[in-house]
Amino acid sequence: MMREFIIQKIKELKRTGLFRELRQLGGNTINFSSNDYLGLSKHPLVKARALEAINGFGFGAGASRLISGNTKLHEQLERKIAEFKGRAAALVFSTGYMANLGVITSMVDENDAVIIDRLNHASIIDACKLSKAKLQVYAHKDLAALKKILEQSAKYKKRLVITDSVFSMDGDIATLPEIIKLAKEYNAITIIDEAHATGVLGARGKGIEEYFGIEGQIDIVMGTLSKALGSIGGFVAGSQELIDYLRNKARSFIYTTALPPAACAAALAALEVIEKEPGLIRNLRINSRFLREKISKINHADPKNGTETLVSGSDETPIIPIMIGDTEKTMKVSAQLLERGFFVSGIRPPTVPEGKSRLRITLSALHTKKEIECLASLLQELIPA
Ligand SMILES: *Cc1c(COP(=O)(O)O)cnc(C)c1O
Repeated sequence: MMREFIIQKIKELKRTGLFRELRQLGGNTINFSSNDYLGLSKHPLVKARALEAINGFGFGAGASRLISGNTKLHEQLERKIAEFKGRAAALVFSTGYMANLGVITSMVDENDAVIIDRLNHASIIDACKLSKAKLQVYAHKDLAALKKILEQSAKYKKRLVITDSVFSMDGDIATLPEIIKLAKEYNAITIIDEAHATGVLGARGKGIEEYFGIEGQIDIVMGTLSKALGSIGGFVAGSQELIDYLRNKARSFIYTTALPPAACAAALAALEVIEKEPGLIRNLRINSRFLREKISKINHADPKNGTETLVSGSDETPIIPIMIGDTEKTMKVSAQLLERGFFVSGIRPPTVPEGKSRLRITLSALHTKKEIECLASLLQELIPA
C-alpha cells in the first residue's frame, strides 16, 4: 500500500517534469545560484572565527538554549543583530524557516488573521497554517487588495501583515512605506522577512528600512544568517518585550538544540566584515546592474520575445529571474548552461506557479565582469526564441 502510493506519486512527478534530485557542483563550475551574496561563507575572518569557536566550544551546542546550550557567542550575536537592525533585542533560531514558524505562531491564533503577499516564502505560509489564524492572501504587491482585506477583517482580534522584503523568486522589493501606512491606519501588526535583504539592501546592507529610509517603523524584523551572512540560522529582532515573550513561547526556539557556537561566531564575523568592507555591497550592486543591462540588450535583439523574457524587478537586488514559462525548456537551458560550466538553477512548480518556470540567477559580489559577460552571451545563445 505504502510502496504503491509512493511509486505512483514519483511517476506523476517524473511525467510532469517536476521530479527533483540533488546535485553537487564541480569545483570548476561558476555558481550563479547561491545566496552567499557577498561570498562571506568563505571570507578569511569568517572561517577563522568559526574555527576558533570550534576549538573553544567544540562543534555541537549539546542542548537547547534554555537548558545548557547557551554560550556568550549566542548572546553576543543577538546583541549585534539587534544593533544592526536598530532594535532593542533579538533572538536567534536554528534556521530562518524556524524563526518564521516561531514568531508567527507566537503572535497569532484562531482568533486572529494573517495577511500575506501571494509570493511570500513557503516558511511564512507553513507558519501561518500552523498558527490556525485566518489566512488572507493578496495578489503580489497589490496595495488596493491589501487595503480591502484590512477593511474587511476588523472582526479579528489581531491582524498581522507579513511580507518578504525582497521576493526570493522574483527579485523585486516590497512597497514597504505604503504597507506600513496601511497597517498603521488599520491598526495591524507588521512583520518583514529580510532573508534576501540583510547584507544586500541599503548602503550598509541593513535591509529594506535602510533602503527606503524608514528605519524602525516595522514592528517585527525577521531574517536569516544563512544567505548574505554566509552562516546558518535565523533571527527575530524587535522590542525587548517581544523577545522576552518569544523566548518563552516560540516552540521552534524552545524545543530544539541551540545553534552551534561556531555558526554564531561566523555570523558575528560576517556582520563585522559588512561594516568594515562596504565595498562588498557596492560590488554586488554593480554586478547586478551590469548583468541586468546585458540581459536587457538580449531582449532588444529579439523583439519578438522582448517583453516576455525578463522580469524587470528592481535594480537594487541580486536576484534576476529569466522567465521561460515552460518547465521542460527551463530545465533544458539550465542543463546546457551547466555543460558549459555555469550553474543557474531552473525554478519550477510548486516553488513558482504553473507556467511560470524560470531560470533564477543570483549574483555575488565576487563574480568577475568577465564571468558575467560570459553568462550573458550564453543566455543569448541558449534561450529559445
Ligand atoms: C531562505 C528563506 C527563508 C528561510 O531561511 P533559512 O535560514 O534558509 O531557513 C525564509 N524566508 C525567505 C524569504 C527566504 O528566502
